[in-house]
Amino acid sequence: MPWGSARSGESSTASPAGRYRGILDSMDDLYRDYILEHYRRPHNFGVLDNPTTSYEGANPLCGDRITMMLGIADGIVREVAFTGRGCAISQASASLLTDEIKGKTVAEVEKMTPDMLLDLIGIDISPARLKCALLSLDTVAHALADEASADEASADEASADEASADLASAAQEEAGAQG
Ligand code: ZN
Repeated sequence: MPWGSARSGESSTASPAGRYRGILDSMDDLYRDYILEHYRRPHNFGVLDNPTTSYEGANPLCGDRITMMLGIADGIVREVAFTGRGCAISQASASLLTDEIKGKTVAEVEKMTPDMLLDLIGIDISPARLKCALLSLDTVAHALADEASADEASADEASADEASADLASAAQEEAGAQG
């Protein structure tokens, strides 16, 4: 099961709740619990066998990393999964965002704004933590951009293959004429 292997690196004995309590002290208790719950048991955490696009985003300010994997068919996000590590806000944000975008059209996901994600997170995020909160959305945007450019690249590749096939047959003809 990919789910097990994806989490294998997280065998730390330190309680995440304890580790992040200081950071989260200033937050509303209700939403703090809600965010910590997403952090402890993130939704859609794991890997997709055959994602149509994926992207690893990083927030070096905090050491957060998120890899988003999307399975897109007919312009709809059919499957989504993520792996990552980092602070509670970054990982809970990814959990909430993956729930939100699953089943949506690519166009709808592309229209998602930072404010929409902050609404989902539901707690006040200090300016210093904004990059943590928005890393997941940024990573999804990159994955979708990669998907779009991959479509173009495969079209280019097809014509490049044709061109090189033409060159090869031209070279063969030339060789035949000389020999
Ligand atoms: Zn962070």
